[in-house]
Order: sequence, then structure tokens, then C-alpha cells
Amino acid sequence: MNVHDSDRMRRMILDAGYAEVPRYEDADIVILNTCYVRENAVDRVRGHLGELTRLKRSGRLKKVALTGCIGAAEESETLRRQFGIDLVLGTHNTYELAEFVGLPTMEETYTPELPGTEGGHSAFVTIMTGCNYRCSYCIVPTVRGRMVCRSKESILSEVDRLVEGGTGYVTLLGQTVDAWRQDGERFCDLLEAVSERAPRVWFTTSHPSNMEDRTLRAIGERETIVKRLHLPVQSGSDRMLKIMHRGYKAERYRRKIEVFREAAPGGTLSTDIIVGHPGETEEDHEATLKLVEDCQFDSAYVFKFSPRDGTEAANIGGVVSQEVAQKRFVEVLRAVEGNAFRRNRAKIGAVEDVYVRHGANEEGRAIGETWSGHAVHLKTGAVPGSYVRARVGSAGPHVLYAEPIR
Ligand code: SAH
Ligand code: SF4
Repeated sequence: MNVHDSDRMRRMILDAGYAEVPRYEDADIVILNTCYVRENAVDRVRGHLGELTRLKRSGRLKKVALTGCIGAAEESETLRRQFGIDLVLGTHNTYELAEFVGLPTMEETYTPELPGTEGGHSAFVTIMTGCNYRCSYCIVPTVRGRMVCRSKESILSEVDRLVEGGTGYVTLLGQTVDAWRQDGERFCDLLEAVSERAPRVWFTTSHPSNMEDRTLRAIGERETIVKRLHLPVQSGSDRMLKIMHRGYKAERYRRKIEVFREAAPGGTLSTDIIVGHPGETEEDHEATLKLVEDCQFDSAYVFKFSPRDGTEAANIGGVVSQEVAQKRFVEVLRAVEGNAFRRNRAKIGAVEDVYVRHGANEEGRAIGETWSGHAVHLKTGAVPGSYVRARVGSAGPHVLYAEPIR
């Protein structure tokens, strides 16, 4: 989501006649587009702001803007004063950046309607913004607001425009894409319509309470949909899921996964897991480890709980010590990686049509994705956006290594 927001800002600065430079030292303007989900993101931004302040004092750098989720949080006011930031914007008013970079003032625009950079082989399309959930630990609803669903008409016309312009891979974006709805139509209807227009489609991220079985079946049935599901579970313990206000039990999650595995047998499944949320006991942790075994994830983002001011979990008792959180973090990560490694090794020998995402680096290695959603490293000079037929030769816990077939 942040990458996509940055893309819209990039479009504005390029339209204003600026060029992008790789080093702060060479820039006239720096725009820091930020994340607020965990405290370490804020720590990193402080580090960057310190460096930028020095460059500004020395006269090399003229202006600094802070955008994104930190910009929408109260903390941004303190940062603005401390570092003398010239412009602070949240996620809803990106259009205000126009004036800052010297473009004519824009009319107020719903951020997803702002065009991103064109001509990419792969593109994000925002279908909803904000989130109507109130998970105990999460700052997203505070900084991104309540859910707003973009109209189907506007989404499909953007998809058509992108495909006409050469985009071969469309990713539908939102905090809970499967909560999308409009006039009696639901996410699955939208996904099906997009899958008829774009040659390759994926979506992220989904909420288990909104995920319909027919969406899971569509992933398996529709040729153009990548058979990869990212469904954050957060915990395997019903007690924790309740404290977190996730709105489902572990059993419901397991059932969804069964439907997915049946619908897309060779597909890949990933999740998000939080360890060390206040109140988490050893028993809860064991339940998470059990769920990891049962679901056999192909990958997972595992996070140590980070208290966010203004969320419920920042002020409840039962704080888990750093040592315990670290131990649980490593255990969950090891369990996920063990399963993922085993599943990846089972792919050795398979012949796949690999979509090239990033062209070859200096060592000639490109990064691609199979239709089952596996990440692949392969030696090829093929350009991003093209397909290469390749045989999987070996596997690691995170990627497959393949050889193109001539
Ligand atoms: N909308 C998405 C995720 C948003 S944030 C969803 O509902 O799944 C991405 C991930 O960051 C979450 O899934 C969660 O695992 C993690 N996360 C969010 N807040 C966190 C916090 N305070 N501490 C640690 N991890 C957090
Ligand atoms: Fe945050 Fe929960 Fe909304 Fe995801 S569903 S963005 S974790 S509040």
C-alpha cells in the first residue's frame, strides 16, 4: 500500500519536472512516505529525519515533506516541530502535494483516483481504503480511517486502462479487500470481473471473517488468478483472537484453509502472526504453533507485538517480556520455515511458467513468480513482465531456484 502511495507521489514530482535521485545529498526536495504500524518504522523515520535536518542546515537540501501514516498520526506534530518539516500530509490528502512540488493546486481528490506511474508491467489497483475492524493492537483504522469502497466502475476502468497500456499483472489492494462491496455485489464479483480483463491477477490483503468460500474456489477455477492466498491469522488461540477482536475462531480459519487447499491444491498460503500480544500465555503460544503445523503455511510474516499509542492493547495488562516474545518469535518462525522448506523441496523437478517480476541483476539472476505463487530465482535475460518456462532445480525455505528450458 505504501509502495502504491509512493507511486502516485512519484507521478506528481515527475509531472512537476523533477527527476528522481538515489541519494539525499543530490536532492532539492525529499518526501518521506511513512508507515506507522510498528514502532521500529517510526524509529527508522527519525533516523532519516536527523540526516535530512543536517543536510537542510548545510543548505544543500531545500524542503522536506512527511507523508503517509505517520503524517496522519498526532505524533507527526512533534516531529514537525522537532525537525522543522516543511509539509506534513496524511494518507487522504496526497493531492495537496501538488502545490508543494510546484504544480497547479489540485481539487480535492479521493487518493485512489490519483494516477500512479504508467507503463509498468505490473500495477497495483486500490479497491478500498481504510478499515472497519478495531483489532486491539492495530493503528491502521486510526490513521487510514473507516472503510471506503471504490466503485466497481472506477476500478474496472483503471484496470482496462492499465491493460491497454501494457500492464500484464494487476494486484487489487486494500486493508481488507474481501470486505469490498457495492450495491449487493461483493468482492468475489469484482475479482471475477477483473480476472476476465487482466491477464494475471492477485489481491491483498484479506480478513478471515470476510473471506467467502466462493472466492477461494474462484482462485482455483479462474486461470488468470495467481493461486496464492495471503490470509492473516494473527494467533492460533481462540482466547487471544477474542482479546484481539478478530471476530473468528481458529477452527473457522482452519476450515477456510481446507477449502483453499482443496480448490487450489498446488497453491501457496501465507499469513501474518503476532507473538507476545499482552495476555499471551505459553498455552496460547502452543496453540499458534499447532495452527502453524495444521495449516502448513508456505510463508508467514511474524511480528513481535509493538504497543501503539491510541490502541486498546497499548493499555491492557499482561505485558509479555521481550525475552519471552523473542523466544516465541523464533519458535514460530522456525516452525513456518520448516514447513515451507519441506513444501518447496516437493516442487523440485516441476516445470513452471514463471512470470518475470524483476529483470536480471549483475549476476544475471532474475526474480519471478509461478502461477502457484512461489517466488523463483532464475538465470535469464528475459524482461520484466514476460514469461519463461523453467524447471525447478533446487529449493530454499523462501524461494525456488529454476533453470530456463530452451
Ligand atoms: N489489514 C491487514 C494488515 C494490516 S497491518 C490485516 O488485517 O490483515 C499488517 C500486519 O502487521 C498485521 O496483519 C499484523 O500482523 C501486524 N501488526 C499490526 N499492528 C501490529 C502491532 N501493533 N504489533 C505487531 N504487529 C502488528
Ligand atoms: Fe488492522 Fe485489524 Fe483492520 Fe487489519 S483488520 S487493518 S489488523 S484493524
